[in-house]
Amino acid sequence: MKGKGALQKKTPKVCYPPIFRRGKITAVMEEKKLQFFREMLTAQIANLLGNAEKTVAEMTQRKEAFPDPTDRASLESDRNFELRLRDRQRKLIMKLEEAIARIDDGTYGICEECGCDISEERLRVRPVTTMCIACKTNQELKEKAGSE
Ligand SMILES: [Zn+2]
Repeated sequence: MKGKGALQKKTPKVCYPPIFRRGKITAVMEEKKLQFFREMLTAQIANLLGNAEKTVAEMTQRKEAFPDPTDRASLESDRNFELRLRDRQRKLIMKLEEAIARIDDGTYGICEECGCDISEERLRVRPVTTMCIACKTNQELKEKAGSE
């Protein structure tokens, strides 16, 4: 009775020590949530791959439709734009695949810097992220300081 309750009251721990980084994912994120993110990531890859195929198809079509030189020139810059876009798509697909690999090895949703949980909200917005918001902000601040 003598104030024992107050003593036992601990602040809930949000962070997991780095030792939990591997193989303890169930303690960090439920299987159901992981499944959700796996489906989300897989869908995004499928979407990107679909777009890439469409881009190529459109490029081939246009080449045939506009044989004169002016159009060919604009087609060239279009093509460069498309290629840059595809390069970005390819890199994003790589990141998405890495995220799925992290789901498989049990490190998904854990910050690679501090070993804390990355908030679910953040993961929903940026499912490929590998850092919690605090570490990401820190990194950006450091980068900013370094470039100045
Ligand atoms: Zn962190």
